[in-house]
Amino acid sequence: MIIVFLGPPGAGKGTQAKVVSEKYRFTHYSTGDALRDEVNRKTQIGLSAKGYMDKGLLVPDEIINAVLKNYLQENNDILLDGYPRNISQAEKLDKILTELNREVNLVFYLETADDIIIKRLTARRVCSECGRIYNNISMPSKKGDICEDDDAPLILRDDDRESVIKERLNVYYTETQPLVDYYVQKGILRKIQGKKGIQDLLQDISEIIEARHRYDS
Ligand code: AMP
Repeated sequence: MIIVFLGPPGAGKGTQAKVVSEKYRFTHYSTGDALRDEVNRKTQIGLSAKGYMDKGLLVPDEIINAVLKNYLQENNDILLDGYPRNISQAEKLDKILTELNREVNLVFYLETADDIIIKRLTARRVCSECGRIYNNISMPSKKGDICEDDDAPLILRDDDRESVIKERLNVYYTETQPLVDYYVQKGILRKIQGKKGIQDLLQDISEIIEARHRYDS
């Protein structure tokens, strides 16, 4: 099964994608994490992507598509978080999947208001080593400003500064939001209230995945 998580930055896609993929043994693929990994390793892709990411802009499709294709070939049950981000990527995804005799089965749209997003993202902290996500308001580290798992310092992502968040939201509304209609027309979009807490969201998503499993079997 292939699931897509759609929604504005800060809607909780990354956190939900992680818990849902652990619960149902999906492979969690985050294009943002894949890109940050390239940036940290200072690869050619990372060097090309960093400038766009720091400004809150989308990285050009050629770079993203190259990163993704191998992945789709090598994995079976996949949860895509942060991809596709525009209509052209969604069409490309459909094309690659058709070649592999597969399709997107479910799209979760985590609808969330801008004021909640800005509050969440400016409070988000990420472990500089393992990437574990914390939130100073809703999910602080028990060890203060270091990671509970590896004691590495927690950092504010460059693109979680308020001025960059506003640019990311602009980009989201112009480029990514049209995907809601794209997937509504395919009959696979399920709308979820992103303002709910982690456990309630997980509950909503689990019910839909389990109903889908029953339908498929
Ligand atoms: P995220 O962690 O998903 O919020 O992504 C962080 C940044 O990585 C975004 O603001 C973009 O610059 C870049 N990025 C992630 N996914 C994509 C994508 N599918 N297409 C273009 N850029 C992306």
